Amino acid sequence: MCSTGGPMADVNLKKLKTKKYKCKKCGNTFKGIGKKVICPNCKSEDTKCLE
Ligand SMILES: [Zn+2]
Repeated sequence: MCSTGGPMADVNLKKLKTKKYKCKKCGNTFKGIGKKVICPNCKSEDTKCLE
């Protein structure tokens, strides 16, 4: 008896530390990474971390 367990899918999922941010300028909420997060909506750097 030879049973195949299927392909070994060794997927390395890199867990990126995304945090929730809110733009103070337009109120848009989005996920961002890093220190300097720019609002994708209005390109403002005036963002606030919600976590
Ligand atoms: Zn914005």
